[in-house]
Parts: sequence; C-alpha cells; structure tokens
Amino acid sequence: MTFVDRQRVTQHTRIDTCDTTEPIMVTTTTKTATSELVLSRMEKHDHEEVLFCFDRPTGLRAIIAIHDTTLGPALGGTRMWPYASEAEALHDVLRLSRGMTYKSALAGLDLGGGKAVIIGDARTQKTEAMFRRFGQFVHSLNGRYITAEDVGMSTTEMVNIRKETPHVAGLPMEMGGSGDPSPVTAYGVYCGMKAAAHTAYGSDALKGRTVGVQGAGNVGKALVEYLVKEGANVLLTDIHADKLAAIKAEMPSVQIVEPDAIYDAAMDIYSPCALGATVNDDTLKRLKCSVIAGAANNQLADEAQHGKALMEKGILYAPDFLINAGGIINCAWERKGYNATAAMKQTEAIYDTALRIFKASADLGIPTYLAANQAAEDRISSMRAAGIRF
Ligand code: NAD
Repeated sequence: MTFVDRQRVTQHTRIDTCDTTEPIMVTTTTKTATSELVLSRMEKHDHEEVLFCFDRPTGLRAIIAIHDTTLGPALGGTRMWPYASEAEALHDVLRLSRGMTYKSALAGLDLGGGKAVIIGDARTQKTEAMFRRFGQFVHSLNGRYITAEDVGMSTTEMVNIRKETPHVAGLPMEMGGSGDPSPVTAYGVYCGMKAAAHTAYGSDALKGRTVGVQGAGNVGKALVEYLVKEGANVLLTDIHADKLAAIKAEMPSVQIVEPDAIYDAAMDIYSPCALGATVNDDTLKRLKCSVIAGAANNQLADEAQHGKALMEKGILYAPDFLINAGGIINCAWERKGYNATAAMKQTEAIYDTALRIFKASADLGIPTYLAANQAAEDRISSMRAAGIRF
C-alpha cells in the first residue's frame, strides 16, 4: 500500500519515529515518493511524529508535526494558509515545529516543539465543523501536542477546537486562558534588546539610543511604549498609515518613516516586528545599526549565511527565537494555573539568557544564532542523558 492510498483509506495517517506509537508500514514502490520524502525529511532533523489529517465532509487538510518531546508536550500554534502544495505545507510545519523546540528549550520551559498547518484560505474556508474535526485530530495525540493560535486563526477557531480537546493554549481570559500574548512578547523583546545593548555598548540603558521599529502591530506598539517610556528615540514604520497615526497621536515623540526607508535609517538598533527574512543580502548592505533585536520570527533569510555575515559586520544579533519567547512563556503558565505576574517575571529571565548567549558567541567566535541553538540542544541532550523524559 502506498502512503497516498493509505491516507485515502484511513483518512488519518500517522508516521512515527518514536517508540511509544506504532509506525505505519509503507512498502517501497515507485509510488512511495511522498512517504520517502516525509521520512527522510523527518530523519534529517529528528522529528518524532507527523500526523496527516484529512476529513472529506469538512474539507479539512492538515498536518501536525511533533519535533521533540524530550522536555515536555509539544506546544505550538496552528497556522491556516493557502499553501500552493502539500510539499510546501510539509516544509513549513517541519521547520516551524523544530523552531518551537528550540524556543521552549532556551526559555527554560518544560515543553517540546510542535506545530500544525491547515491547508486552506482562512478568509473563505473556515467552518465550525472543520475546526471541531481538527480538534479531534489534536485530541487523538493524547496531549503529546498542544495547539494554540497562529497566522490565519482567531479566537473563534480556538474556541471550536477547545470543544473537542483540552489540549489548547492561549485561550481568551474569559475561557480560563492567558489571553493575548503580545504584551508579554513585547516585554521579552525589550529585555532582550537591553541585554544586547549591555553587550554592544557596555550599558543596557536605551535612553538616547535610536531604535527603528518595523511593524506597529500588537507587539510593535507595546514595545514602542517601553522604549518611549525609557527615553529612546523611536523610528517607526508600518504599511498601514492608520496604525502609525494612532501611535503618533498617543506618543508624539515617535518619528514615522516609510516602510522601505527603515533599512537606510540612521539607528543604533533595528527591531523587526513585522515580517520574517528582513535580514537578507539586500538589507545587509543597507543596515547601519549595531544591534538587531526584534519580535518577528525567522528574521534571517538564511540563518547560516546571514548569521555569519552579521557577526563579520560587527552587528550583534539577538536571535528571534530567544527574545520573542514571552508569548510561549505566557501560554506555558496556562498549564500550571495562569499567573500574569509570574509569566512576566519568567519572561524577564530572557535578559540573563541573552547575556549568556552573547558571551558564549564571543568566547567561541560563533554567530549568536548558533550559540543559542547549541544552548537549546545542550539542555535537551542533558535531560535525555539523565533519563528525564516527558
Ligand atoms: P501583527 O500582525 O499585530 O503586527 C504586524 C504589523 O506589521 C502589522 O501592523 C502590519 O501592518 C505590519 N507590516 C506588515 N508588513 C510590513 C512591512 N513590509 N513593513 C512594515 N510593517 C509591516 O503581529 P504581531 O502579533 O505584532 O507580531 C509581530 C511579529 O512578531 C510577527 O512576525 C510574529 O510572528 C512575531 N511574534 C509575535 C508573537 C506574539 O505574541 N504576538 C510572539 C512571537 C513572535
């Protein structure tokens, strides 16, 4: 039976490399290219489990990837996106789930890394039935995967998923959840930025420093509030003029710049809080800052190439998955009984972790992203070696 045939027959195909669940049998024929692709890709970065979910009545087509559960259940959001192909969706979910393992490990959380993607148009294809069915698939993993909100999802979908499974985090406060994580994420980015300033300038004071913030969204706005309060000169950009105008009305000292002009602006710190991959071949030639510290995921277009290039240019890069962990820290507190003060306190530890990573990077002469990756891997392997497993 080929992978595709089996997927049609069972509508629910699980592929495992961990020994707690049964791996499916796939015979090798010319038609098994998809399964070979999946398994070899899982092997490349040690993904434990990938669950393909298909439901004809609701049109649900989803993939849940569990990367590593050494430290705890795999927590990561569900993203709904009109992927051009299954291969693209698979690539994204494998990449994102692995990123969550590193983020949680580095934040000191007892959580592993996972992520889910739903293939579809979030503007036109969402139904209650689809998300309840998706919730049942999440539930079938018995708590090994805990979902949350990501791109294309809203509270409505999370509420529908919650009807079918308790394995959901980041719910609204009125449902006993931790609410919007953005203010906590912004606080973590602010702490990480201060640690970077301490390393780059010998003082963590941001007063008088010029910080270019890209993105006036939930995280960007809250970050600007911290920066203005401390007396930093803030340059702010967004593609939506109304968002900029609202912030300018509240905080008149903020200077608005055009979206593309942010890369050429004279600034000490560049803070990407909108999109990924804004540190790339083009912008690297233009950026004149000495620190990069922001909330956006996957800021380096090519982690190895651009991480090294930043080090060679003398720009201190605060790895995104290190300093934007406030959101996941906030979600993690939901599992123990939500405590907003404790979540903020734990987020503050990003400052010390960042100092430690910057020092390791300097001592070892390696890019900061690599020092952060190594610290995460060390924590996971030391738990494994001690026989501590979720
Ligand atoms: P958001 O959607 O509220 O804000 C993003 C803002 O970026 C929007 O105002 C948008 O108009 C703007 N934008 C889009 N393209 C732009 C461009 N080319 N130039 C300038 N501005 C542009 O999102 P958010 O919740 O504030 O998150 C910001 C970033 O941080 C995202 O990359 C997100 O993945 C990441 N992140 C967020 C959290 C969280 O808790 N919200 C946690 C971790 C990481």
